[in-house]
Amino acid sequence: MKRIAVLTSGGDSPGMNAAIRAVVRKASYHGVEVMGIFHGYEGFIEGRMELLDLGSVGGIIQRGGTKLFSSRCPQFKEDRYQYQGIEKMREANVEGLVVIGGDGSYRGAHALSQKGFPCVGVPGTIDNDIPGTEYTIGFDTALNTVIESIDKIRDTATSHENSFVVEVMGRDAGDIALWAGLAAGAESILIPEESYNIDDIVNRIKRGEARGKKHSIIIVAEGVMSGSELAKILKEKANIITRVSVLGHIQRGGSPSARDRVLAGRLGAKAVEVLLEGRSGRAIGINNHQIIDYDIEEVFINKHKADVTLYTLSKELSI
Ligand code: ATP
Repeated sequence: MKRIAVLTSGGDSPGMNAAIRAVVRKASYHGVEVMGIFHGYEGFIEGRMELLDLGSVGGIIQRGGTKLFSSRCPQFKEDRYQYQGIEKMREANVEGLVVIGGDGSYRGAHALSQKGFPCVGVPGTIDNDIPGTEYTIGFDTALNTVIESIDKIRDTATSHENSFVVEVMGRDAGDIALWAGLAAGAESILIPEESYNIDDIVNRIKRGEARGKKHSIIIVAEGVMSGSELAKILKEKANIITRVSVLGHIQRGGSPSARDRVLAGRLGAKAVEVLLEGRSGRAIGINNHQIIDYDIEEVFINKHKADVTLYTLSKELSI
């Protein structure tokens, strides 16, 4: 291969820029050019791209978001748009593509690979919900943002003796809620992967009150219900009044953590290696500290699993 391309798609995540940089630098190391495609699959369809030289990815390793912009492009699910994009790539002598994004973006990469255009997927999402990889780029940074926010909420909760419900992102996955809850010492954590029991949450709050504790933090993953819904249930069931804090998009922004930068570098470089080896339809991931690649179809066949041992531990530590 003499020329490949890279795009970012779906929800942005901190560390995507570091991954773009790794793709460009690793390819350049092997004498291969990289085209940066703007606005995800939207730009792919239209051939909206420019050559990324070594200098063009300088000074972005520490920046959140994505230099290439991202988009949701529903029409890309249609074959005709995929073929149109492949045509644009062939016209520009692009021979392979690195897609940095979530599982939806992987479906696009898979479709292109099946049509004979080599693609590999790099996991870029704060949700940590891609089967086959233990971590995704952006998860660690998002987690740190959430923890920092909860620490601040706890300061005011303690001062005013309030209880707080904190709603965090994660789509259908509970990883952010679970890890943040454990790291910030939340009294209760609600995740989609485990059924919840309102009586248990109420009892935990009441037990705390009996010990003289006047505040508690309850974390709810957006995939379970909204923070205000949970607050309403607590009020109706046990007359427990809580303040609700929805952290929202701050979780997607910010300078990537050291872990995310290193992960992005390793995964981005591996993606280039896999493409240059002539392999296609692969997903890149990390498992047991090792960078791996596997059939991208596994992402769609398997279901993401949150680490339930952490859930059990969080319950034991927050009695
Ligand atoms: P995140 O979950 O972090 O937001 P994501 O990659 O899962 O990231 P999606 O919006 O699900 O985000 O998908 C991103 C884009 O991938 C879509 O807008 C669409 O262009 C493309 N895509 C999604 N599903 C398919 C599909 N079945 N076939 C082809 N392309 C798809």
